[in-house]
Amino acid sequence: MTIFQKVLNGEIPCHRVYEDEHVLAFLDINPLSRGHTLVIPKEPAETLDRLSDESAAAIGRVLPRLCRAVLKATETRHFNVLQNNGAPAHQAVGHVHFHIIPKAEDGSGLGIGWKVTTMENGADLAATIAGCLER
Ligand code: 5GP
Repeated sequence: MTIFQKVLNGEIPCHRVYEDEHVLAFLDINPLSRGHTLVIPKEPAETLDRLSDESAAAIGRVLPRLCRAVLKATETRHFNVLQNNGAPAHQAVGHVHFHIIPKAEDGSGLGIGWKVTTMENGADLAATIAGCLER
């Protein structure tokens, strides 16, 4: 069982920000900046690609509203939404979660390494990805 399932079960306490039928939002225990908030589905999906449309829609519906609340409460204007999938992609907890991370005036927040690679044959690649989409 993941730590977030224990939070959902009430076995581990959290500072709750929001809850509805499908979604829970709470403060991150090790914040990158003040107001760093986690938004999770109640569905126990490990990674985003495994999440149901219903849970995805529920998160999508509330995520911008939660972002606005975090910004207002922390008096910040800029922020990152981060969503990691798989240990090599920096996922530590195997339960889907979205980070809302304010970029504070003091510079605290998410640091990003952004190493670009070369784009080759985009037309073919886009068509391949499009062909893999489930209907
Ligand atoms: P990940 O690297 O998987 O995207 O991020 C997991 C996040 O969960 C980390 O930012 C970490 O601080 C947070 N976290 C881990 N355990 C707990 C916990 O027990 N309570 C809360 N509130 N956050 C946690």
